[in-house]
Amino acid sequence: MFPRPKGDRVFPQLNSFALQAPGFYFAAMIQPSMPTADQLYLLGADQEAFHQKAALAARARFGNQVFVRGVVEVSNFCRENCAYCGMRRSNRSLNRFRADYEQIAELLIHHRPASMTDVNIQAGEDPVAVREVVLPLIQTLRRETDLGISVCLGSLNHSMYDDLKQAGTSIYVIKFEIANPKMYAAMESPGQFDQRIANICYLAKTGWRISSGFIAGLPRQTTDDLLANFTLAAQLPIDGCSVSPFIPGEETLLANEPMASLDLTLNCMAALRLMRPDWVIPSVSALNLAGAGNGYRRGLRTGANLVTINLTPADFRENYLLYKRNRFIMTEDRILNAIAAEDLEPSSQSLADFYAAQKVNGTVTFTPQAAASA
Ligand code: SF4
Repeated sequence: MFPRPKGDRVFPQLNSFALQAPGFYFAAMIQPSMPTADQLYLLGADQEAFHQKAALAARARFGNQVFVRGVVEVSNFCRENCAYCGMRRSNRSLNRFRADYEQIAELLIHHRPASMTDVNIQAGEDPVAVREVVLPLIQTLRRETDLGISVCLGSLNHSMYDDLKQAGTSIYVIKFEIANPKMYAAMESPGQFDQRIANICYLAKTGWRISSGFIAGLPRQTTDDLLANFTLAAQLPIDGCSVSPFIPGEETLLANEPMASLDLTLNCMAALRLMRPDWVIPSVSALNLAGAGNGYRRGLRTGANLVTINLTPADFRENYLLYKRNRFIMTEDRILNAIAAEDLEPSSQSLADFYAAQKVNGTVTFTPQAAASA
């Protein structure tokens, strides 16, 4: 095992108003197998066995199929100010852009990689881009293609979520980022913690399929902070979850902090897979920053079952500054090579069709009355 971080032992409170409010959804039918602290710090043969167990759990549920989606980043304007992100509104050195939806539509309709079944439309938190770029893009894609469509657009007002769904998308990617509300506030994560959770619950209640996620290895993150991410994820009405390694991004407040350990991140991914074998868990491109050369493949080896090809036009990419301007771009070739090297195969079924074929996964409407009579 590698050393655990020092820190307080205060377990974060998860009794936010959003989780207690009537009418919100809880993943109440599934009893997840929660990780232990020791599992997050495994190394060597024990770690390998842990990751193999996770990979087997994924294979038992999904076979050797991996969902392949493309991502287009359509705006780097953001009204939020997350300490760990180069697109924070206080970063004045960034050239801000909004894509032309017709250019992106042309790319996705006529020039998309053959292996991709879904597209994820992503932006900073930018309601203008939602109205001017994302909505017409979704309407065009819905008319012209059978791509599954997901969006990652942050905290928006409810009518905007409804408009996006109405336009023809069904999957929302919205990370809760950090389960400890105090740390969430200290990192200036998007909006307010309670509101973020309430938004996730609203999306679930209105029929979206949701992928959430959290960051591993943040500065001053304790073991309890890490475990709280699993507790919160298990309580939320979500269908998938990512683990992103903390990368000290250029032009952020945390640029001089140490990068997350790849081993810690991969152990979290394996623990997440064992907690919920039925979830869709991505191998995120930042794994290649935390572990140059093989981080991404090792992600697939822990039971990840979603990969993402970056399709953002080259002239926008360097200003979509999640971490570094000089980005390691996951092209179709790189993705397909990584999948093949791990004896996996691209899924011919889209993620959207996979979800549509399922019942809502073990989620029930939770009300105080139901709890009282249980
Ligand atoms: S992480 Fe997202 S919400 Fe936060 S500053 Fe970056 S783009 Fe904006």
